[in-house]
Amino acid sequence: MMKRLIPLALAIVVAASCQTRQTDSTAADPAISGALAQVSIDSVRSYIDDLVAFHTRHTLSTQTNPDRGLGAAVSYLERKCGRWAQNAAPGRPKPRVDRIYYTVGENGGRYDRVTQVPELMVTLPGTDGSRELILMAHIDTRVLDVMDSTAFAPGADDDGSGLACLLETVRILSQIPLEQTVKCLFVSGEEQGLDGSRYLASLARREGWPVQAVLSNDMIGNVRASGTELIEDHKVRVFSETRTGEDSDSRQLARYIKEMASIYVPEQEVVLNYRSDRYRRGGDQRYFQQEGFTAVRVCEYCEDYERTHQDVRTEDGVDYGDLASYVDFPYLVRNIKINLAAVMSLANAPEKPANARIANANDLDNNTILVWDPIRGKGGQPDTSVSYQILCRETSQAEWLPALPMGLSDTVPYSASGRMEFSCPLSKDNYYFAVRAVSADGHPGLPALAQ
Ligand SMILES: [Zn+2]
Repeated sequence: MMKRLIPLALAIVVAASCQTRQTDSTAADPAISGALAQVSIDSVRSYIDDLVAFHTRHTLSTQTNPDRGLGAAVSYLERKCGRWAQNAAPGRPKPRVDRIYYTVGENGGRYDRVTQVPELMVTLPGTDGSRELILMAHIDTRVLDVMDSTAFAPGADDDGSGLACLLETVRILSQIPLEQTVKCLFVSGEEQGLDGSRYLASLARREGWPVQAVLSNDMIGNVRASGTELIEDHKVRVFSETRTGEDSDSRQLARYIKEMASIYVPEQEVVLNYRSDRYRRGGDQRYFQQEGFTAVRVCEYCEDYERTHQDVRTEDGVDYGDLASYVDFPYLVRNIKINLAAVMSLANAPEKPANARIANANDLDNNTILVWDPIRGKGGQPDTSVSYQILCRETSQAEWLPALPMGLSDTVPYSASGRMEFSCPLSKDNYYFAVRAVSADGHPGLPALAQ
């Protein structure tokens, strides 16, 4: 019986693989490569120099001084993004720059008064725009005393590096139309307790933003580990959480970012960190995760505790403080490119397939039959231009295999029957399976784990 079953299953797979392979997920899109080539180290350096010059961007710092404090920094970001929005490419949906205020201090915490605090949302609308991708970084800075809102708190890496990533993204994408919307959230209140991102995450949930992925960039420009003196300038971490079971949508996103890095920025390795964040630290991804969004944190591999949250000073011959001179700009540029590649690819890719499941989960056999709903276009009809890619990995493996075992084809074209199915002679007990939709021009979307 076994001997008959396997060739039968293989015959099905061979039939599928005889179809023209519509996609090659390992091929680079020249449009994305071209955009990445525009990331400018000089621009990135100038943003961080400009941001440091505001002396402090503490959440409780002045909002009225034109040269110092959070107010001046938000105005600077608003001005820069506003100019790029004004000069957006013709034919591209016009970018919008919105200033958002929220109230802090009502529940005590790291606030000495109740006040309104600004943050900024830059929307780069997509030509389709039915889904959104979010890049996030925090404006505010701090020194050792988290309540000190007047001391010099340059925040070049924490989080000038993340802000530089968002600014370059707005500058470059203002000239490039994408199918889906990209939002850049410049948040405040991070150092006081993630208050700005908490406000925006609840706003996103209340208003029903169709958020597909959130990448919070917090400290992506330092390469030195204080104490151990390790230098790591070709690795960056992506933190992803799991809330139920052994996998999560944020892990799918983290793996996706790693895959895009390997295609577009192969000199920089994305290290997957299956934790929501580091010991004793959190980040702006947290409340988006808590609201149920797919969110990860991008963060440098090594941390320098002589830089972050320090008073700028020299003590026992050691220089402290988060100054621009300690940012590794080539490293930061590579991390910005990784963000841009992931966001651009996702913005031109189909959404995650719905209702992916193992159809024969109740059968005692050694096959796997996956079924899922086809991606639907605007009118609700199945999008026949979309193909599907099957991913699998053994249950103890952290990443999807680069190819299916046994030389099986991983590509499934749209089926005219409307029933999307993939059958293979791999035991459902021995692997996790997922399916992802791939656009006609080869952009893969986020995978849906079949359960
Ligand atoms: Zn930070």
